[in-house]
Amino acid sequence: MTHQTLGTQRRMAHINGTAADAQDSFVVLDPATGFELATVAACGADEVDQAVKAAQAAYDGGWKRTTAAERARILRNISSAIMANGDELARIESQDTGKPLRQAVVDVTFAARFFEYYSNMVEAVFGSIIPAATDRLTFSVREPYGVTGHITPWNYPLGLATRTLAPSLAAGNCCVLKPAEEAPLSALRLAEIMSEAGLPDGVLNVVPGIGAEAGAALAAHPGLGKLSFTGSVPVGVKIGQATAANLVPADLELGGKSPNIVFGDADMDAAAATVAASILQNAGQTCSAGSRLLVHDSVHDEFVDRLVHIFQGTTLGPGLENPGLGPVISRKQQARVLDYIALGRGEGELLVGGGVPESESLSGGNFVLPTIFDRVAPTASIAQQEIFGPVLTVTSFDSTEEAVNLANGTDYGLVAGVWTSDVGRAHRMIRDLQCGQVMVNTFSNGVELPFSGRKQSGYGTSKSYEALLGYTQSKGAVIMMAEH
Ligand code: NAD
Repeated sequence: MTHQTLGTQRRMAHINGTAADAQDSFVVLDPATGFELATVAACGADEVDQAVKAAQAAYDGGWKRTTAAERARILRNISSAIMANGDELARIESQDTGKPLRQAVVDVTFAARFFEYYSNMVEAVFGSIIPAATDRLTFSVREPYGVTGHITPWNYPLGLATRTLAPSLAAGNCCVLKPAEEAPLSALRLAEIMSEAGLPDGVLNVVPGIGAEAGAALAAHPGLGKLSFTGSVPVGVKIGQATAANLVPADLELGGKSPNIVFGDADMDAAAATVAASILQNAGQTCSAGSRLLVHDSVHDEFVDRLVHIFQGTTLGPGLENPGLGPVISRKQQARVLDYIALGRGEGELLVGGGVPESESLSGGNFVLPTIFDRVAPTASIAQQEIFGPVLTVTSFDSTEEAVNLANGTDYGLVAGVWTSDVGRAHRMIRDLQCGQVMVNTFSNGVELPFSGRKQSGYGTSKSYEALLGYTQSKGAVIMMAEH
């Protein structure tokens, strides 16, 4: 395997439209090889403070006076610029995260689509006239917060950064983004592309750094109007505490243990292909991964056989070589997944996978074989905890009620897939499942659909019109018209 770096140049923060260095730095490794990809400035509290102040200055200096139409034009330019630089961005993303290139291409398209979508929508956001009384005009307007903070994880660096940046910028806020230290490179390139596309200096600032330093400094910064966090539950709790101390509202998009529920009347071919893809995509490192299969007793054997076949045929390799499955993000993540697999050997019946590939050429990377555990009790750790790797648990059920109870029986509530040809049952499942998104006979969705968590999966809504409203706050006003 050839060792490709992304250049030896030190990657800088992006503050007030220019590259900004920091005293410290950190190294980003290629998950497929373990080789060094880049050295990046590690921002601390000082750089974060500079970034928040730059964002506030950009807001006061003009961004808050822009019309929705002006912002929409800039957002459209950004969307086009992301697509124009799509090949480069996809290659950076693939190499930095390990995901197959074709998935990175989809992520880039999603990133562009967020800007297009909110550029189309922002001119339709306005307040309302409220018919409270005839002697006065009572109305509301929607205002931005000012400066919003964004802390994002490494699994979809570009897609998850743009998911919250686009609606926030559209709404008229200025932003400070702290990307994950494991995969910060696409966010840094994105900032340059957005500047070139006409975003004024300071409107978007990017402060790479270690979570407990740069992330904690951003979450605790009193200059924020709102914070968006996407990541794990334990860090989400810390973020919630830090923002609450300043009375700053926060959206917390956290983890999941999402089920695919397959009934006996499902289209087996479609269901098997999508259930497999929903856990193998991004090597299982997706918040909404379909990590639990709940399958009706009547089709259990047939369905599981199909999955085993797909998993056995899945190729492994570096993301840039477009394999079926790339590496997981880090040695630490690989060890965590392997620990769960060791636990799973006592909790279920291992059908396929269960370790690392034997190939010498993959030994430097963080690879984990696609793995299925069958006959897993619903209370087992591997059926309850987010593994964040290519590991699927299988549990069977014999009634719709049991399926609902199993699906709802974890601390998480992010998404669910339902596979059935019975429309009435599909509606009942949508009604009864405790999660933020239900997908019937599919496991994919676009930027238009609200995405939110229940229970430990967090709170706040991303994507959709609601996310745009979430980056605004209402101001009520009343004007007396009667003569006194
Ligand atoms: P993580 O919580 O470890 O890190 C997320 C971000 O928080 C990173 O930028 C990190 O540097 C930062 N961070 C870490 N410690 C911090 C601290 N003390 N203060 C402030 N910031 C800190 O999560 P991860 O491992 O990068 O991502 C995986 C998790 O993200 C999984 O649980 C996954 O389900 C979740 N996730 C959720 C969604 C969603 O939309 N619900 C989407 C993607 C990922």
